Amino acid sequence: MSAVTRLARPEIAALAPYEPAAWEPGLVRMHANELPWACAQDPSQSGLNRYPEPQPRILRERLAALYQVAPEQVLLGRGSDEGIDLMLRAFCRAGQDAILICPPTFGMYAVAARIQGAAIVSVPLRREPHDALDVPAVLAACPAAVKLVFLCSPNNPTGSLLRQSAVLELAAGLAGRAMLVVDEAYVEFASQPSLAGHLARHPHLVVLRTLSKAYALAGARCGAVLGSPELIALLRRIIPPYALTQLTVETALAALAPTALDSARERIALVKRERARLAQALAQCPRVQRVWPSEANFLLAECGDADAAVAAARRAGLLVRDVRAQPGLGTALRISIGTPQQNDRLLEAWS
Ligand SMILES: *Cc1c(COP(=O)(O)O)cnc(C)c1O
Repeated sequence: MSAVTRLARPEIAALAPYEPAAWEPGLVRMHANELPWACAQDPSQSGLNRYPEPQPRILRERLAALYQVAPEQVLLGRGSDEGIDLMLRAFCRAGQDAILICPPTFGMYAVAARIQGAAIVSVPLRREPHDALDVPAVLAACPAAVKLVFLCSPNNPTGSLLRQSAVLELAAGLAGRAMLVVDEAYVEFASQPSLAGHLARHPHLVVLRTLSKAYALAGARCGAVLGSPELIALLRRIIPPYALTQLTVETALAALAPTALDSARERIALVKRERARLAQALAQCPRVQRVWPSEANFLLAECGDADAAVAAARRAGLLVRDVRAQPGLGTALRISIGTPQQNDRLLEAWS
């Protein structure tokens, strides 16, 4: 038994998974209790009267190519949120196991842990140097019960990148003890490449990617868990067989066509230009005390009077995210980069 299976819940490793109806597109499907006709309003190419292919092969291959890993290292799911949930359910026994997080960070890790009944160990990021991973503190705070360590890079809501060398040092220290999950929801906007290139050397390293942010498909719900083939096979036991709708599969494939990828790259470049412009302009705003450097498609702004800033934005028809409940972010608001016009509107509202 390898290290990944040893860390998993034994009942998941032993589970006999559900066998969906066989996928053989050359044959007529009289084995899945579907209707043989599509409904008149069906907008799909291949017919929503049919169940979709589980873990559709072509989409898996396209995402593997995009993320520069092998198809066996990819599990498709409904956004990274599903990847977070699957990791909890595969590795944490209720009332016994725990996860470790480094706040301030994305809230779903703790929520998924609470749903599963797993405990939460917190080791805050160090403020100096800016948002740094405290590798010795994480390793010291990692008792045997910690099965999963969640990192987010670029981090939501601070926008900062974790140094790759620190993450890899932690990966080396956790080998055989816990899975290290790195959420890269915003890595397309960052100046540093994905950690996916290091998966082969670290079987307990897991990278979460999504089409929700840089590929403008938040409404389609499509993301991927990247990990060792053994981990992907383990998670396939618990993901629902028809996790992705046929409409999502067709939409994602269209978004990954070469010309669509060209426009995605242009959009990402525009977001980065606007991020730099908005950061500089916000820093001059009387309402703003400090703008955090960001490697994502949002900015974190510390405000003198955050309530008044939220209200002023709302009067201009704009919603910004209040993240003041997060440790160390007592005056901070998170602003997603909008169109140039929307960004101008915020600057005007706060001037
Ligand atoms: C937005 C976000 C996600 C969720 O992404 P989905 O793929 O839409 O589920 C995951 N992680 C972080 C850090 C995010 O900010």
